[in-house]
Amino acid sequence: MTKLSVKFKNESEKVGFDLEHRKKIKFNMSKYNAAVVKGQAYYQDLESTKQKASFIKQQTLTSLDKYLKKFESSFERNGGQVLWAVDDKEAQAQILKIIRTHKIKTVVKSKSMTTEEIELNDLLENNKVEVLETDLGEYIVQLAGEKPYHIVTPAMHKSKEDIAKLFNEKFNTPIDSTPEFLTNFVRQKLREKFIKADLGITGANFIIAEQGAVALTENEGNGLMTTSFPKIHIAIVGIEKVIPNINDLNLFWPLLAAHGTGQRISAYNSLFFGPKKNSETNGPDEMYVILLDNGRTNLLNQPDQKEALKCIRCGACLNACPVYKNIGGYTYNTTYSGPIGSVITPHFKGLEKYKHLSFASSLCGKCTEVCPVKIDLQKLLLYNRRDVVQKNYTTRLEKVMMYAYKKAMLNRKYLNMGSLKTKNKFLKKFGSKAWGPRRQIFELKESFNQQWKKSIA
Ligand code: SF4
Repeated sequence: MTKLSVKFKNESEKVGFDLEHRKKIKFNMSKYNAAVVKGQAYYQDLESTKQKASFIKQQTLTSLDKYLKKFESSFERNGGQVLWAVDDKEAQAQILKIIRTHKIKTVVKSKSMTTEEIELNDLLENNKVEVLETDLGEYIVQLAGEKPYHIVTPAMHKSKEDIAKLFNEKFNTPIDSTPEFLTNFVRQKLREKFIKADLGITGANFIIAEQGAVALTENEGNGLMTTSFPKIHIAIVGIEKVIPNINDLNLFWPLLAAHGTGQRISAYNSLFFGPKKNSETNGPDEMYVILLDNGRTNLLNQPDQKEALKCIRCGACLNACPVYKNIGGYTYNTTYSGPIGSVITPHFKGLEKYKHLSFASSLCGKCTEVCPVKIDLQKLLLYNRRDVVQKNYTTRLEKVMMYAYKKAMLNRKYLNMGSLKTKNKFLKKFGSKAWGPRRQIFELKESFNQQWKKSIA
């Protein structure tokens, strides 16, 4: 077992039995679940919408290089600059270069998982650049010194009382502050920072090849502020985010809103076609898009798993997953958690190191059922498991057990060997170790032969 898999097992054990954690997640997710049912009900034919979205993403992936080059030429024609980053280190170096060239001291950020992926906040803080999250959920986790718990709702693991306590400790606000009071408090604080900041950093929900634009969807308006005041805007975008045409947003924006937050459409939907033009008053003087690979090409090269790149990061599979609901977001120890995180992380960061994630599933299929772009998540987890075996990353014990199992199953003589008492003893000794102390080990009452005879009698 790797260090990470041991940590994962221990953390799962701890968090799974933390009743306080369970209560908070249950409460916050129940609100989400009710909203998403409402959001999906806006569709007369949700299934065909999902099929269409899946088809467009699949087609785009088939010619990803062509669409990315198209985006590059269109965006540069609009006055922006495209930078390519093969991994997190390259992306970090490009950002630092821009920061040093412009002597940037303060950065405002809107919510973005790609910036989490490249550990941008640590990089900026280590280089004495002030960085401020402007999404309320992100702001809360930054204040608490934590990472996002969930890809859509970063502070899902906190109750309103936890948040009031955190603000009381940091800013001396009343301990019983309401969410409305705290939202206003943060708004005031952020306003000053938006005006002062030299650089705004965002992610992107989609980038559009034909028109060369970056599409951002959000509910608080901070993304818009992040890109309006500072003189420079950098969008850090995974290469799979490209869609062919602006008209495709008619399909993707509402689909993302319905599955992410249960809305007909998010409150703020912005399109950025490069930096400010001469006739415009707001917007940055310079705009960069960093196209981040960071393992995505590796995933694209897996014929059976590449469809995971269709993901639009709505978070629906996390909320549907019985494993995620019990062990929570932090246990995964990855940027992307839940079913989609378990599928993609081994390809982004190494199958051997993250192989345990592919086994963190009951294979119930709920994730596949809720996915708006029809990613067959539980099947992809099985493909990952297959690769673990084919690449010989399984443990010695597992190999021995499978060898013995195969031998016994192929030969009646071995299957009938030993009394029921011995078999039960064996099961108790090794089964409880492998399955953990809380699972009841079943007891064999009859041999396979006896059961078989009864069934055909
Ligand atoms: S895999 Fe599907 S359900 Fe999960 S986050 Fe991506 S788009 Fe949403």
